[in-house]
Amino acid sequence: MSACLLGKPCRYDGKSKPNPAVIALDEKYETVAVCPECDGGLPTPRIPSERVGDRVMNAEGADVSEFYRRGAEIALDIALEQGIRAAVMKARSPSCGKGCIYDGSFSRRLVERDGVAAELLIKNGISVYTEEETDKL
Ligand code: SF4
Repeated sequence: MSACLLGKPCRYDGKSKPNPAVIALDEKYETVAVCPECDGGLPTPRIPSERVGDRVMNAEGADVSEFYRRGAEIALDIALEQGIRAAVMKARSPSCGKGCIYDGSFSRRLVERDGVAAELLIKNGISVYTEEETDKL
């Protein structure tokens, strides 16, 4: 599960996004919280970033792709080690978003695409849901 959905203040702005439905799932099932951006080595708070082509760039123009790649690999390693079959990940995040993320223009426009970590989990057979899809679990 995305740690910010469980109340960890790990978002780029230093805040969390606790979600009651996700917290209820966390109480019902055995889960693991991850924050791919923090796990990949980025600080909190941090400059917001978006996927731009095959890179991830922050709003100041720095290429932060490597942090995102490393964080995604750590999330996948944890999932594989623990036999995790499903993930609940924060919608629209450049790491955790599934199906729809910001388009790289930093103008709040959305594009059909997955975040870096969600994409890697899906490629490896793990079902990813956003916090807006918890009724499917
Ligand atoms: Fe939340 Fe994922 Fe962003 Fe971490 S990387 S703050 S878990 S959306």
